[in-house]
Amino acid sequence: MRLASTRDSRLHVVVDDVAVDVTDALDLPTGPGGPLLTFLERGGDLGAISALDLDTLPSRPLAALDLDAPIARPGKIVGAPVNYLDHKAEMGEQRTIADYGVFLKASSSVIGPGADVRLPYRDVRTDQEGELAVVIGRTASRVPVAEALDHVFGYAPLLDITVRSGEDRSTRKSFDTFTPFGPWVTTADEVGDPGELELRCWVGGELRQETSTRELVYDVAELVAYTSHVMTLFPGDVIATGTPAGVGPIKPGQRIVVEISRLGRLEVGVSDEGAIDYDSRPGPR
Ligand code: MN
Repeated sequence: MRLASTRDSRLHVVVDDVAVDVTDALDLPTGPGGPLLTFLERGGDLGAISALDLDTLPSRPLAALDLDAPIARPGKIVGAPVNYLDHKAEMGEQRTIADYGVFLKASSSVIGPGADVRLPYRDVRTDQEGELAVVIGRTASRVPVAEALDHVFGYAPLLDITVRSGEDRSTRKSFDTFTPFGPWVTTADEVGDPGELELRCWVGGELRQETSTRELVYDVAELVAYTSHVMTLFPGDVIATGTPAGVGPIKPGQRIVVEISRLGRLEVGVSDEGAIDYDSRPGPR
């Protein structure tokens, strides 16, 4: 099942090129987290959706939807540093996620399909990182690897946008608009093995990144299990699983596309609206 949220905070089931609005049928309130977050917090029972007669509900062509991120404000976004060996090599890294652990991105950095990534600085490089996102469906605390995937609700393409300056990762990756996510969440039952997905990322029409999730250092189950031994994962939390080689600078006016097999294609723009020089950022030095 593919679940999409719109900017007016309504939840849709996407069937081929049609979107069926299930917000009222599921009695989901609209709010800042988005209707899918509420659905997941209430237990994420897909049976409740399967039981609906979709033919009787309001529907629109998928292309007519004003899509938002499937979860506009997740409880938390966990990131995975250096989780592909080819990215380790290109960054001259000596260490991997096994040494670094995970990091957090601000949930306020999420944007949806078609929105613009806003570059914060005119004179510091900002890069794209195309990634597989994992959406948690069941509360996970210290779960073993063998049970980790039982706690996953679904998957989506995601971009972990990153400034290449010297600050801590949580700063460099948390600027507003730095976590494009979508276009929808595909439920885990429809995805099968998350270690067999093909990921591609284009910037300005140029193919920059191409990998399979079988190349992950910590695969999805290991990453969920590891993270759950650090922090309790709640329904609607998002884990960005890391990026393969091919990160590079993004420029105003470019389009960024990340496409993952079985999950769809996320496209956003790049803008320098409001960008400042790095040395004019607030604070004494
Ligand atoms: Mn990343």
